[in-house]
Amino acid sequence: MAIWNLGSINIDHVYRMEHLPLPGETLAASSYSVGLGGKGANQSIAAALAGAVTRHLGAMGEGDEWVIQRLQAAGVDTGSIQRLPDNVTGHALILLDSTAENSIIINPGANRALQAAMLEKALRHITREDTLLIQNETNCQVEAARIARAAGARVIYSAAPFDLDALREVMAHVSILAMNAGEAEQLFAAMAGELPVEALLITRGAEGAEYRDLKTGQVHRHPAFPVDPIDTTGAGDTFAGYFAAALDRGNAVPEALRLASAAAALKVTRAGAGDAIPSRDEVRVFLS
Ligand code: ADP
Repeated sequence: MAIWNLGSINIDHVYRMEHLPLPGETLAASSYSVGLGGKGANQSIAAALAGAVTRHLGAMGEGDEWVIQRLQAAGVDTGSIQRLPDNVTGHALILLDSTAENSIIINPGANRALQAAMLEKALRHITREDTLLIQNETNCQVEAARIARAAGARVIYSAAPFDLDALREVMAHVSILAMNAGEAEQLFAAMAGELPVEALLITRGAEGAEYRDLKTGQVHRHPAFPVDPIDTTGAGDTFAGYFAAALDRGNAVPEALRLASAAAALKVTRAGAGDAIPSRDEVRVFLS
């Protein structure tokens, strides 16, 4: 039982300012911080902190050792992260104004330059007991999903950032399709018919989450825990990582939803992405 996560690694540069710059305007930031982000890194950290054996499959440029150290500190196996000397580590410039409105630029860098041959080599060891997580911030998603399914593993795909073409391409190899409410709306608008996946996991922010088993028609719902939100960045990733880890250790869906909802609720009470994901002990205390 292990989680393999093919996912992005981003360095988040966060600039706070009174208002977002207009075209042609130059502004001084009132504060600046650097953190670890990227949907992939966030989900690996969440899964590892939730207690799952978690291997990150991804790519970075050279340097940025602190990123590897931070993943390892959360318990993530970083041995399959490719170092691509001709690429930069993915990064995001996040501008936040005084009302917490944001503008974000992402440079995917190495995240979209993974070498398929190295990925395939790493995934040779995936088994039917394992889970593959993928999101839409890397290349090679279809190759990875195909290998995982051929091995009999569970494949969970976070359809974010939403891209219908990417989703159509990978969907036949996906077991659980995970989305937030906005992404689910886009999916249903485009594809009203049968989806080839086994289940849908839909998160609805402060309105909670639901798991729809498309084979049995059964729907499990869990409300969001009431908290005062500070920063919702990474809430969905925390949820996905904790949910995957719970299924991986054999928890049933209702318990997986409960643990994931608690972890995500705790996350939104803290500023930051990967660095703000709670540990399993913190989740336990929150639930007690
Ligand atoms: P994403 O971050 O992908 O947009 P959501 O906003 O749907 O995802 O949030 C994912 C999960 O995080 C929700 O299902 C819920 O459990 C939790 N969550 C998000 N916002 C809040 C909130 N304001 N209060 C409590 N829990 C929240």
